[in-house]
Amino acid sequence: MKVLLVYPEFPDTYWSFKHALRFEGKRAAFPPLGLLTVSAMLPADWERRLVDMNIESLTEADLDWADLVLLSAMLVQKDSLREVVEKCRDKGKRVLVGGPYVSTTCDDLPADHIFIGEAEQTFPEFLRDFELGIPQPVYRAPEKPQLSATPVPDFKLAKLDAYSAMSVQYSRGCPFQCEFCDIIEIYGRVPRTKSNAQLLVELDALYETGWRGLVFIVDDNFIGNKRNVRGLLPALVEWSGNRDFPFSFITEASVNLAEDEHLLEMMRQAGFRRVFLGIETPVEESLREAHKGQNTHRGLLESVSRIQHYGMEVMAGFIVGFDHDPDDIFERQIEFIRESAIPLAMVGLLTALPDTQLWRRLEREDRLVRESSGNNTDCSLNFVPQMDSNRLIEGYKRILRTIYSSKEYYRRVSDCLERIKQNPPEPHRAALAGSVAAFLRIALRLGVFDRERAEFWKFLRHTIREHRRHFTKAVTLAAMGYHFRRLTEEYCR
Ligand code: SF4
Repeated sequence: MKVLLVYPEFPDTYWSFKHALRFEGKRAAFPPLGLLTVSAMLPADWERRLVDMNIESLTEADLDWADLVLLSAMLVQKDSLREVVEKCRDKGKRVLVGGPYVSTTCDDLPADHIFIGEAEQTFPEFLRDFELGIPQPVYRAPEKPQLSATPVPDFKLAKLDAYSAMSVQYSRGCPFQCEFCDIIEIYGRVPRTKSNAQLLVELDALYETGWRGLVFIVDDNFIGNKRNVRGLLPALVEWSGNRDFPFSFITEASVNLAEDEHLLEMMRQAGFRRVFLGIETPVEESLREAHKGQNTHRGLLESVSRIQHYGMEVMAGFIVGFDHDPDDIFERQIEFIRESAIPLAMVGLLTALPDTQLWRRLEREDRLVRESSGNNTDCSLNFVPQMDSNRLIEGYKRILRTIYSSKEYYRRVSDCLERIKQNPPEPHRAALAGSVAAFLRIALRLGVFDRERAEFWKFLRHTIREHRRHFTKAVTLAAMGYHFRRLTEEYCR
């Protein structure tokens, strides 16, 4: 049997980092971990190929080769997903679709087999039925599986050189209940983790592929199960130390990470270098409205600063469009982002994702307008906000234009480098700026052809004077800032 695993294309978003990856000669940020995991569940004697449409085209020859075509997608990939499914149907191929999009929004996709829920509980059942000649149209996971059943992802199937970072997963689920969040609807509110041994075996597998550099632990909240994470980190420190720190880790966590200095210290020692936090807003009434009480226990600026002092750059999500947002929300967000020294601030419009608490409330209030595009930065709204829509969108664009102007952005990077100053630089050379060729490409684009080149050289001089040890990080962040600025220009046009 020949199985073609296809990962549909993402539209250009802040998360794609397209304009920054170009400098590094990479095509995408991360490989499709879900498909690599499902590949490891296939019978050993089945042939398999992966086409990640974010790094290569899906050709007629690929489809002609396959007996089965297997796709996984998120909401934001739905247009590309539909296109591929229809193409497969035209060719008479058997199509299997799973992943978060069909799990939350099982609609009219003309696929032969739909997988709702996590693959550990649905895919083996399909394989058994397929063997018996009685495969069903829909497989629905009866519960959230323990992750002990999750195999080591088939990393070797991916063209590793095309990616800027590798991904692994330690946990699924989050104990909090943010109203707009679909993670807790998909993965539940009881965080499930892999065992220490399981995660380390995955890291071994990645190490054996020859990969060195960034590894994204893709958990939506890495510290969702703090007890287990406390048990994991010493093992991770030892594993990394024994191999001379081959990986730098990035992950996502809830803001209460700042309350646990022991955890922060262990993460620093293990080589965590960036943490994404869901800050959302500095307005307490809006946080309460979003059921995000965990962000109101201590000062948010203080929490960010504490994490940065453990050598971790903070990246964060921000949202405007809550019912309780005051008139000056835009200025307050800009001021907060400036003060927090968060270079990569992902600001989005509030979006009602399918099957979330927010979706259900807005449906009751008759305020839903359309299904979300899955991209909360494309300046479109899918519900009727309290604030006048035009005012909200204009204010939102003002935030983007301000925070991603070169002057504001480089200032935040410098402030961030100041806060992580005492910590050692990344143990390996950051991939993006780690080669002379990549640096020259960045310097040429940002320092010669860019209209804001004066700010770039000013920033570079300051970095050499004050933060020489973090030079590669500074240049990497400069390239990422360029990506944000380019996309902001496109969004605001
Ligand atoms: S903390 Fe993050 S993952 Fe957890 S419920 Fe809130 S938004 Fe979702």
